[in-house]
Amino acid sequence: AVPVAIVSGVSRAAKAGVLVKGGRALETLTRVRTLVIDKTGTLTHGHARIVEIRPMAGLSSDRLLQLAASLDQASKHVIAHALVSEAKGRRLDLLPPSEVEEIPGEGLEGCVDGRRVVVGGIRFVSERVPRVGAVAAGQYPAGSVVVAAAVDGEPAGLLILADPLRTDAAQVIASLRRLGIARIIVATGDRREVAQAVTVGLHLDAVHADLTPDRKIAIVQEEKPHGPVMMIGDGVNDAPALAAADLGIAMGARGAAASAEAADVVLLVDHLNKVPDAIGVARRSRRIAL
Ligand code: ADP
Ligand code: MG
Repeated sequence: AVPVAIVSGVSRAAKAGVLVKGGRALETLTRVRTLVIDKTGTLTHGHARIVEIRPMAGLSSDRLLQLAASLDQASKHVIAHALVSEAKGRRLDLLPPSEVEEIPGEGLEGCVDGRRVVVGGIRFVSERVPRVGAVAAGQYPAGSVVVAAAVDGEPAGLLILADPLRTDAAQVIASLRRLGIARIIVATGDRREVAQAVTVGLHLDAVHADLTPDRKIAIVQEEKPHGPVMMIGDGVNDAPALAAADLGIAMGARGAAASAEAADVVLLVDHLNKVPDAIGVARRSRRIAL
């Protein structure tokens, strides 16, 4: 039989908008020592806005955004969603992409309007179209997310977005410290400059950037000797690290389905403050059980 305290803990968490997948997850929530947290869509709200478009190869800004956003219709990445909604906001026609191949968290390639389009992070696009590396080596406003694009093997331009921290990010980090989480570490697939600029003032123990999904797993494993590790993420690229952690928490409301499947806890609303709430509920239900 499932102890009454677990049933009531899980159902109280559910009422607070947090899906806890069983007693073991509820119990681990009470003992977390280290938090490894994703950046884009997790620490940031992910409703990114374009702040600048730098088109190349004779394209207009609108044509560059149209081609990039058309291809990004095939992606579930938060930045892909942001480009699609910006294109819709500018009333651009989104064209159906075909022959799409995606590397989650990095970018995608495919055909749009008879052109070969590549869209994603600078590293991903320049691996396929090396000249993108040189054109992307410029300066960007601090903390901005940079999306590169190439069309028919030529650099096509850069889309620069602002993706600020959630307004309560610092408060949530402070609450988690008060709840006894000793180490708080960011693990992002994005560039180091972005990760460092965005997290200034959060008093984190480490910021790891440019990570592949496998490197996110490695960061989680490296922290395990300090005690139970909680990982929070939203992306397809976070799913392996969520599964590797002692406790994986997915941003369920807008995050990728793969991350919710891999996680032990799913936030049903898009609020990071549900994490300290869930720890509080778990601790109270443990007290009742004793
Ligand atoms: P995080 O690990 O912090 O969530 P990601 O690794 O998911 O960050 O994303 C890193 C960067 O990769 C994004 O900021 C963006 O520049 C780029 N990127 C990844 N996927 C896409 C996509 N589908 N479309 C556009 N850009 C993308
Ligand atoms: Mg993310």
